[in-house]
Amino acid sequence: MPELPEVELVAKSLDNLTKNRQILTAELLRERLAPFNPPEDFSQKLKDSKITGVHRRGKHILFDLNNGQTLITHLRMSGRFLLLPVECELPKFTHAVFYFSDETRLVFSDQRHFGYMRIVETEKLRETKELKNLAPEPFSDEFNQKYFRAVLKTSKRSLKEFLLDQTKVCGLGNIYAAEAMFLARVNPQTPAHSLSVKKAGVLLEKIREVLAESIVHGSTLNINPENIDGSYYGGGYESSWRVYDREKQPCVNCRTEIERLKQGGRSSYFCPKCQK
Ligand SMILES: [Zn+2]
Repeated sequence: MPELPEVELVAKSLDNLTKNRQILTAELLRERLAPFNPPEDFSQKLKDSKITGVHRRGKHILFDLNNGQTLITHLRMSGRFLLLPVECELPKFTHAVFYFSDETRLVFSDQRHFGYMRIVETEKLRETKELKNLAPEPFSDEFNQKYFRAVLKTSKRSLKEFLLDQTKVCGLGNIYAAEAMFLARVNPQTPAHSLSVKKAGVLLEKIREVLAESIVHGSTLNINPENIDGSYYGGGYESSWRVYDREKQPCVNCRTEIERLKQGGRSSYFCPKCQK
């Protein structure tokens, strides 16, 4: 599942590829993709609009349109975009199609059917339920030590579950949470509220470090316009995870075997010696 760096790359690629393109019409083929916008409304709100820019908030991709509307998209497990020439056949699992005036089409395809879209007034974007409760962006000034300590204090859950809660920390998923906790030498089972001030400070810095490292890596990749998905870390980058998906392999610091445990139904990887 794409996390902040992957979504950032997808949003940037879409901004490069679709900014200033004119949408002639749009078609919602799977109604449940956009539960708040029935197909007719979906087409109506996108028809004859121009994409003025594509950006990101948390793991949401936002297409700003020149008609005062914004299309919110979440890739979830397997959503991807494809910019296709008109003669190309639509791929399997096509759930929405945007027809551009230059005879290309932007296709949203989603094998696992968890993707999500909603069209809202740009002015009300910040108040929509998808965005209003999101934690501050990890690279913003609001995401600082004072904020981080305050939200940690309010949580009785494990640190791992805390880090995945997008209302507390925004943009992390299973991979980057594991990597940040490893670098900060904190155990994923630690109750969030019990983390020391010092450790909280280190963890915040490491969250930024792992995200920034991956964003930089992503910016060096060539993205295929016909397959803009959020899984670029699968393309050679995964070999450099320090702890994620390395069960029973030696810790890169101390050679102790990496352990895996289930938390909230998902795997956590950690070094029992480095992350006591
Ligand atoms: Zn270790």
